Amino acid sequence: MTTWGLIGASTIAAEHMIGAFRSNGGQVASVLSADAERAERYAEAHGITRGMTSLDEMLADPGLDAVYISTTNEKHFAQAMAAIAAGKHVLCEKPLATTIGDAVTMVQAAENAGVVFATNHHLRHAGSHIAIRDAVRAGRIGRVLSVRVHHAVMLPEHLRGWRLTSAEAGGGVIADIVVHDADTVRFHLGEDPVDVVAMSAESGLGQGVEDSCMSTWHMPSGVMVQTHESFTHQYAETGLQIFGTDGAIIARNVMTQRPVGEVEIVTGAGREPLPYADHGLYDHAVKLFETAVAGKGRPGADGVDGVKSLAVAEAVAQAARTGQRTTVDYRGF
Ligand code: NDP
Repeated sequence: MTTWGLIGASTIAAEHMIGAFRSNGGQVASVLSADAERAERYAEAHGITRGMTSLDEMLADPGLDAVYISTTNEKHFAQAMAAIAAGKHVLCEKPLATTIGDAVTMVQAAENAGVVFATNHHLRHAGSHIAIRDAVRAGRIGRVLSVRVHHAVMLPEHLRGWRLTSAEAGGGVIADIVVHDADTVRFHLGEDPVDVVAMSAESGLGQGVEDSCMSTWHMPSGVMVQTHESFTHQYAETGLQIFGTDGAIIARNVMTQRPVGEVEIVTGAGREPLPYADHGLYDHAVKLFETAVAGKGRPGADGVDGVKSLAVAEAVAQAARTGQRTTVDYRGF
């Protein structure tokens, strides 16, 4: 049973992760906030033993096995490095850091310290995406030709803070959603984008940071990937489509935090539903993290996966800024 410390009194921890830790038999011993009163209130609201403002004090607790980092993005690096130095296992939110160099340093430090380090990319834990990946691998649609990712949503009102205003805190739709799409496509195809072209825009909510992005990626196999991410689309359904020489996978409403959506395979024989398991996405992520801590498995998305998704996002941001086709730099990973 893992005893967790929460670094960050965040929405994602409250809405998804505290429940996932507990449903896997773990307990949450402490929560860290920059604000003492908020730490106390959050701890009380969520039945957490202690609220605190000192990271050193949290990490000095010998009973703490692991930390979950879900502060704003510019804080992840220093907090992860401190946790790793204290010998704690780390589950870190995406994007791992605001620069790829920092993300690489975090992953290497965890490797050297012998602690588990994972990235909280939830989509690859969805039963729908696992079923899609398995169908692609089994060759059910033949050789893959192209992928379309539809991930334009309306950002819920309670999340309309730093994501829309602060480049320093790692705001913008590229840091927020392109990283997830990169991880999901890598999961399905088992290969990493080589280069990208992109455009981004402020389409109604962003104030100094982009809130919409469209990009096209080229994979080593020749597969082309087209993605659309946004915070401003009330009526755009999310989805993923994979087209192959012998068929297609059409998945609707699957770029989400919940185990929902419809997945169909279309071939010359007609259309048929692709059944999938309906476990919680974050429950599954924590379950695999726990097996890694127990020395019996690997996290679903590890540190290298987090570095790679951030590398794709950085290339997309650069391509959008410069208008140039941009090679993804995985820093040797
Ligand atoms: P929040 O804005 O809810 O939390 C980020 C920080 O903002 C918290 O650490 C907290 O600071 C502060 N904060 C939050 N709510 C309040 C409030 N009401 N008043 C004052 N301060 C507040 O961010 P999210 O939970 O949306 O995102 C956190 C991280 O998780 C990001 O890295 C994001 O990219 C990632 N994320 C990942 C998702 C996934 O599915 N993998 C989904 C959503 C987010 P303090 O701790 O100092 O109190």
